[in-house]
Amino acid sequence: MDTEREKEEKCRRCGRCCCAKLLLDGEVVYTPFPCKYLDEKTRLCTVYENRHEMNPDCLTLEEGIVIGVFPADCPYVADLEDYKPPREDWTQEDLDLYAEACEKDDRTEKSGGK
Ligand code: SF4
Ligand code: SF4
Repeated sequence: MDTEREKEEKCRRCGRCCCAKLLLDGEVVYTPFPCKYLDEKTRLCTVYENRHEMNPDCLTLEEGIVIGVFPADCPYVADLEDYKPPREDWTQEDLDLYAEACEKDDRTEKSGGK
């Protein structure tokens, strides 16, 4: 079994799983909006050690795999059979739904993490 460090070393720091997501009809859809804790230059989480406290919507690796928040080429899921990655072809309609959801809930970081 991988240690926590070995697990973390698999991450390529692309930051794609740290974009806000929508769950639409059982399908996860990425938005272009990064979590406010993602450093967009380094693509690293600025609160990594305390990410689950700082962002209660930040998922664990295990939760993220079950929900399907990692892109298909992410090393954590690339070898998993039957894994369904998020849709990355968001539409304006998707973004409008996201804006609506944010109005109802001022927590703009919806999910992500590893
Ligand atoms: S967990 Fe995967 S998708 Fe997320 S930053 Fe690391 S490599 Fe990218
Ligand atoms: S989604 Fe989680 S890991 Fe990613 S930047 Fe936000 S708090 Fe950090």
